[in-house]
Amino acid sequence: MGMPGKGLAKGLAVTLRTMTRKSVTAQYPDAQPDLAPRTRGVIGLFEENCTVCMLCARECPDWCIYIDSHKETVPPAAPGGRERSRNVLDRFAIDFALCMYCGICIEVCPFDALFWSPEFEYAETDIRELTHERDRLREWMWTVPEPPALDPAAEEPKEIGAARKAADKLAAQQAAEAQQAAEAAGQEEQAKDTEEEGT
Ligand code: SF4
Ligand code: SF4
Repeated sequence: MGMPGKGLAKGLAVTLRTMTRKSVTAQYPDAQPDLAPRTRGVIGLFEENCTVCMLCARECPDWCIYIDSHKETVPPAAPGGRERSRNVLDRFAIDFALCMYCGICIEVCPFDALFWSPEFEYAETDIRELTHERDRLREWMWTVPEPPALDPAAEEPKEIGAARKAADKLAAQQAAEAQQAAEAAGQEEQAKDTEEEGT
């Protein structure tokens, strides 16, 4: 058995330590808080990446993601090909009055369409106004911090490699077109000179 009153003395020591510690007052809103880079403030939507797969809405434990969409027929890419159908997003909204900031929707999104933003200044006086639609979710997307730099020895991410290849291909195509145009202009000039010499 421990010494009687040991717990009380320990508790009083903690109280005394806390009482003598200098208090710190956050000067918000005059000074913005220094938030951690991975702060869960609000969810941003990058709708170009959203394929309306509905995974986020299905996995959300609070059922607070509302998605509406319709199907659209896309003509075949090449003649004789098959028509395809794709989902078009009509509505994407999150009710932040219900959201518990668990991050499951962000984790499960297979297409990197949802991100945490540290933005937190969206309090409302009416709880019904905490359901935010896609335009607002997109605005928050621009407040998402850049991801940390990759390790120098890391493999190039697939999407960056694909984007680089596409950009290189486009640049090569544009250079070839410019060269063709320059050659055509040169030939035209030459033909004009020959014509002038003949007259
Ligand atoms: S953070 Fe959690 S509760 Fe909030 S919308 Fe995403 S899955 Fe739902
Ligand atoms: S999981 Fe991602 S891609 Fe699928 S509907 Fe949600 S945001 Fe869109």
